[in-house]
Amino acid sequence: MTEFNLLEPVVHVLRRARRVAVVTGAGMSAESGVPTFRGAGGLWRSFRPEDLATPQAFNRDPVTVWAWYRWRQQLIARAIPNAGHIALARLEVTRPGWLVLTQNVDGLHQRAGSHAVVELHGSIWRSRCVSCHTSRAIAPEHVDGEAAPLPRCACGEMLRPAVVWFGEALDPAVVAQAWSAVEEADALLVVGTSAVVFPVAALPDVARAKRVPVVEINVDDTPLTARADFVVRATAATALSALESAL
Ligand code: ZN
Repeated sequence: MTEFNLLEPVVHVLRRARRVAVVTGAGMSAESGVPTFRGAGGLWRSFRPEDLATPQAFNRDPVTVWAWYRWRQQLIARAIPNAGHIALARLEVTRPGWLVLTQNVDGLHQRAGSHAVVELHGSIWRSRCVSCHTSRAIAPEHVDGEAAPLPRCACGEMLRPAVVWFGEALDPAVVAQAWSAVEEADALLVVGTSAVVFPVAALPDVARAKRVPVVEINVDDTPLTARADFVVRATAATALSALESAL
C-alpha cells in the first residue's frame, strides 16, 4: 500500500467538502525540527517532562519551569514551518471552510500563514497571569534567556506559560469549538497524531456519528487507523502538499 494509490479517493472526498476540520499533532511539526518531549534533542538537563509540565512543578519551582520553557522557545524559534504547514495555509485561502485544530503549542501553523487555527493545548508564545488571567504574547525574536527574572503581570503576580499542563483540563470553550467544527464538517483529517489524548481521541467518533468521513495521515499505524475511512501512509509535508496540488 503506498500513499498515492489511496490519495485519489481522498482528493475526491475533499473536492466535494466545503468544511474540513484538520486535527494536527506532533507529527505535523516533526519535519520542522521541533523535538518531541521524549525524542532526540527534546530532553533538558536531567528532567522528565512529566516533572516539569505540571501545575505542581510550577508552584514548587517556577524558576526551573520557566528556564525549561525558555529553552524550548529558543528551539522552536529556530524551527521553520514545513511544506505541510504551508500547504494548509494555502488551502485556507483557496478553500475558506478549512479549520485547523492543533495539539501543538509551537505556533508553526500561524508562522506559515494560517489564521483559522484553534490551539487545543494553548501556545508556547503566550503567557498568562496566575491571578488575573491576563494573557501576554511572547515574540519568538525576543525570547528571554533561561536565567532571566521571572516574568510578572502588571498586577504583580507571576505569569505562567499559557499551555495546558499534565493534569489540567482544556479550556471548555476550546473543546466546544473543536466539537462543533467536527460535527459541522464535511470531512475530518487527522494529521500526525496518535489521537489518544482527549479531546482529539473523541473527535473521530464525533465525526463518525455524523457520517463525516475520517482521513488519517500518519507515517505509522495508530489506534485511529482501524476506525478511519481513508489512511494515507505518508508524512504531513508529503501528504498535505500532494493534496493541496491535487485540489
Ligand atoms: Zn495579573
